Amino acid sequence: MQLSESISRISVSPTAAVVMKADRLKASGVDLVDFGAGEPDFPTPENIKRAAFRALEKDFTKYTATGGIRELKAAIAERHARDFGSNYTAEECLVTVGGKQAIFEAVVATINAGDEVILPVPYWVSFLDIIHYAGGQAVLVRTREEENFALRAFEVEKHLTAKTRMIVVNSPNNPTGAAATRAQLDAWVTYAQANKSIILFDAAYEAYITSPAIPHSIYEIPGARECAIEFRSCSKNGGFTGVRCAFTVVPKTLKAITSRGEQKPLHPLWLRRMATKFNGVSYIVQRGAEALYSPAGKNQVRALIDHYLGNARMLVAGAKAAGLTVYGGVHAPYIWVETPKGLSSWQAFDKILTEANVVITPGSGFGSKGEGYFRISAFNSRVNAEEVARRLKALKW
Ligand SMILES: *Cc1c(COP(=O)(O)O)cnc(C)c1O
Repeated sequence: MQLSESISRISVSPTAAVVMKADRLKASGVDLVDFGAGEPDFPTPENIKRAAFRALEKDFTKYTATGGIRELKAAIAERHARDFGSNYTAEECLVTVGGKQAIFEAVVATINAGDEVILPVPYWVSFLDIIHYAGGQAVLVRTREEENFALRAFEVEKHLTAKTRMIVVNSPNNPTGAAATRAQLDAWVTYAQANKSIILFDAAYEAYITSPAIPHSIYEIPGARECAIEFRSCSKNGGFTGVRCAFTVVPKTLKAITSRGEQKPLHPLWLRRMATKFNGVSYIVQRGAEALYSPAGKNQVRALIDHYLGNARMLVAGAKAAGLTVYGGVHAPYIWVETPKGLSSWQAFDKILTEANVVITPGSGFGSKGEGYFRISAFNSRVNAEEVARRLKALKW
C-alpha cells in the first residue's frame, strides 16, 4: 500500500499536546478550568433540536438537493438581506458540512500544485493543512501587534506574485480577535481584482461583531461579488460544532480561469463537485439550522453571544489588571495575550496550567509567528470566567 502525496502533506494538530498535558494533570486529581477550547460549551438550543426531531418524524430522510434545502437557503438569504443589506440570492448560498468543508472545497477548486495562497498569521490551523493538502504554497504574512493585528492589504502587496491565486481573510479573527474595517476590506477587494485572485472570506465569527462600522460580509464591499467566496458557520453561534452545518456564498458572477485561459463560472462547477463528492448536508441537520433563523432562534443566538462577549470583557479586564498586554475580546470570543518577560508560548502555557490550573492555548499553535502569545477562549460559564479572571489577576509572572 502506498500513501498519497496529498495525505502525506498534512501534519499532526499542534493543539494535541495541549490536551495531553491537561489530561495528565487532570488524572493526578487537579481541578482544571478549560479556557482553551475553540467551541461553545452550551448544548444545542432546544428549539433547534425540536426542529431536527420534527424533520425526522415528519418528512423522513431522502436525498436533498445538492447545496442545501430551499427553506434553509431562503432563510439565510432573507435574514442577511434584511439585517446586513447583503445582495446574494438563496441560490448562491451552498450549505456545507461545517466551515471546514467550505474551505476545503474552495481551495481544492481553485488551487493547483505550486500556486500561492496568502495566509495572514496568526491563523486558524486548518487553513495551512488544507492549502498543503491541495499542493498549494502558503505565503505567510504577519499581522502586527502595533496595529492590533489589523488585516491590512498593503502588507500583502509585496507578497503578491504571478502565482498568487487566493487570499485568506478571517474577520473577526481566530485567534487574535481582530475585525477588518470597511476600508481594510475595500483594499483587499482592490488587490484581489488587480491580481485576479480569489478572496476566501472566513466569517465564522460574524455574529460576534459589536460595532455597526465593521462589515459582516465581504459583499458589503463593491466588487466583491466578482472576486470573493464567503462562508459562515453555525458552529460558533448555534452550538453546531458536532452537528456540522455551515454555508458558503459562491456568487454566480464569480469566474475562474482554467489552465487553458478560459473563464468559467465557479458556481455550477462547485455544485457538480459537491454532487460528485458527498451530495449534501443531512436533511435533519439542515432543518435544525433553519430554526436558527427563526425569531426564537435569533434571540437564542443573541443571548449566547452576549454571554460569551460578557465573559470576554471580564477576561480582558482580569488579564489587564495582571499587567498583561491584551488584544481582541471585543468582536470575537477570543483574547490574544502577549506572554510577559519574553516567555515562550509554551512556557506561559505551563505556568498558567500548573499555577492557576487553567488551560489556555499557546500562540505557537496558530503558526510560528504566533510565538510569544497565548489565546484565552471565552467559551465557558460566567462563574468560571469570573474565577479565571481572578486567577489571572493573582498570577505572579
Ligand atoms: C471554528 C472555525 C471555523 C468553522 O468551523 P466548522 O465547525 O467547520 O464550521 C472556521 N474558521 C475559523 C477561524 C474557526 O475558528
